[in-house]
Amino acid sequence: MKNQQIPFSKPTVTGKEQQYIEEAIKSGYLSGDGPFTKKCHQWFEEHLRCEKVLLTPSCTAALEMAAILIDIQPGDEVIMPSYTFVSTANAFVLRGAKIVFVDIRPDTMNIDENLIEEAITSKTKAIVPVHYAGVACEMDTIMEIALRYELYVIEDAAQGMMSTYKGRPLGTIGHLGAFSFHETKNYTSGGEGGLFIINDKQFIKKSEIIREKGTNRSQFIEGIVDKYTWVDIGSSYLPSEIQAAYLYTQLENAEKINKKRLELWNKYYSELLELSKLGVIELPTIPAEYTHNGHMFYIKLEDVDARSKFIKYMRNNKVSAAFHYIPLHSSIAGSEFGMFNNDDVFTSKESQRLVRLPLYYNMSNSDSCLVIQIVVDYLNSKVNR
Ligand SMILES: *Cc1c(COP(=O)(O)O)cnc(C)c1O
Repeated sequence: MKNQQIPFSKPTVTGKEQQYIEEAIKSGYLSGDGPFTKKCHQWFEEHLRCEKVLLTPSCTAALEMAAILIDIQPGDEVIMPSYTFVSTANAFVLRGAKIVFVDIRPDTMNIDENLIEEAITSKTKAIVPVHYAGVACEMDTIMEIALRYELYVIEDAAQGMMSTYKGRPLGTIGHLGAFSFHETKNYTSGGEGGLFIINDKQFIKKSEIIREKGTNRSQFIEGIVDKYTWVDIGSSYLPSEIQAAYLYTQLENAEKINKKRLELWNKYYSELLELSKLGVIELPTIPAEYTHNGHMFYIKLEDVDARSKFIKYMRNNKVSAAFHYIPLHSSIAGSEFGMFNNDDVFTSKESQRLVRLPLYYNMSNSDSCLVIQIVVDYLNSKVNR
């Protein structure tokens, strides 16, 4: 069968992006914190039911703000999984932290909450759970440990917009949270973008200062002070109104986008269930009491070899299947700036088996059927009958 190349991800487009960007241009206000940014902030504070949010140029930027806010000093230790994107670690390494990697759970690919406590030392300052594939980490346990050892919890919820943990939106459970609106995520602000979530009130004022190049400009705008000046360290963590305009139409369609992604996800799941029962593949686990956002559909094959063959077969059939995240502890920088605590039982083994299938908002029904057919045909030939 002939088909067009099916990509593994495509940026979400709702149709109103151009109109809103044009409105932003006509308004004559393009730098940070203009009308579209305010609308986005309002939407998030309502839907996430949280204290304070700030749009940022990326999730990376939001994580960097978190590291500055909790005052990471050289030598401090930060606990996180090794199976994550480089930014999760980089943000803290930039402030001089040493990263302590903890093994993951094979079912959700998230940090194993039961291994965190043994990684804590007198230098530990924070725990950074990453909600992989938009599926929550076991936050009750993590928050309980953090409370007991007086540590900060910063949620890397880059993939987790619209997902919940026991009814609570991801990103709103720890002291601070970070979302990504990169074009590969469920919602995008035109390619790059992010959101910083401040749940702990003590950080609100300082977070605004850090984001405004270390000045109290936001207080000046609100009329609290009559001139603005340099008051602390900071950087430029404001996205432009063009980015906010792009994002706003996606937020207006947030439910619709989420529903469509979940439909695609559920279709993969039900069509591949039989093959998972036959032991040819493993499917993702969504623990009870969690809702997810269909950010990613992955399957796990027997090993790295089986995965390479699968990806090649898919490529020959014009379907891009992808894997990602070489575990950070096995990278050049990861071994310099971090260490793996205890044994790597699952991180390397499970990450080498995992492959992601195409899933994006604008994916057509016929394309998703075609991908499923190609996957099923291939996997059927692997069944021992
Ligand atoms: C995408 C992603 C990031 C980085 O997001 P940017 O907005 O590109 O900076 C960080 N952490 C995780 C887990 C991600 O998936």
